[in-house]
Amino acid sequence: MSVQAAPLRWEVYLAPPKRVLTADLAPGEQRRMWPPTAATLIYGARDAVLVDPLMTIAEAGALADWVAARGKNLTAIYATHGHADHFFGAGMLLDRYPEARLVAAPGVVAHMQRQAAPESIASVWNMRFPGQIPDDLAIAEALAGDVIELEGRELLVVDAGHTDTGQATYLHVPSVGLVVAGDVVYNDVHLFLGESTAERRRQWLAALDALEARGPTVVVAGHKRPGAPDHPRIIGETRAYLCDFAAAAAASGSTLELYQRMLALHPGRLNPGTLWHSARMQKG
Ligand SMILES: [Zn+2]
Repeated sequence: MSVQAAPLRWEVYLAPPKRVLTADLAPGEQRRMWPPTAATLIYGARDAVLVDPLMTIAEAGALADWVAARGKNLTAIYATHGHADHFFGAGMLLDRYPEARLVAAPGVVAHMQRQAAPESIASVWNMRFPGQIPDDLAIAEALAGDVIELEGRELLVVDAGHTDTGQATYLHVPSVGLVVAGDVVYNDVHLFLGESTAERRRQWLAALDALEARGPTVVVAGHKRPGAPDHPRIIGETRAYLCDFAAAAAASGSTLELYQRMLALHPGRLNPGTLWHSARMQKG
């Protein structure tokens, strides 16, 4: 190429917290909330790639409008992992952008299929978010290889193993030092550890080490406090939380004790309801 393409840029759309129906509330908790969830648009002079197209009908509609206002040609939608809150909105985005390809790593595609299965929708997602789940759920096509190309630049798909769920990935954009982390990194929000075991926490810690070794200057977390900087220090903060949880789980005899120990260590993080769920799954 004789003419150097313009550097890639990005913008983050943060969906606000939303209520999730559950009967298992923490002491003093009035209603359970789902944390703010990030979608990221990476773009060049003309084309764009959208990462993690959110979940509910309202979120996907607002996100599609937000993307439209950026005036870019959407070529791909990428899902970092198979949890519903990061991809159930994809079908609505594809309705608005039929030229875009919905892509994910092969392991993520299999997870998406399980999350979008009728029994999962009926027993989990429609119970938690009644009337808010789109009817038409799109499943990604499996990416061949580990690169999404955007105006001559590479978006690298990196396997992270088990983080807050199995077969998670993140996107690394080396040309601008950006990592779009999905749920591999959290930003001032309690981590979801409802699927966690000691071995899985070891995998998550290894993924954080590998991510940090890539030397990103910007890390966009899948769940973040509104206004929190996308600073790479959140890698270390996520690591510290995992280590604290492991120690607190070992020292605690009950859900309540684990919850209270972690709250004392991390009093400022958003969404303690997620911590209650993590503690419940750990201690029964
Ligand atoms: Zn999530």
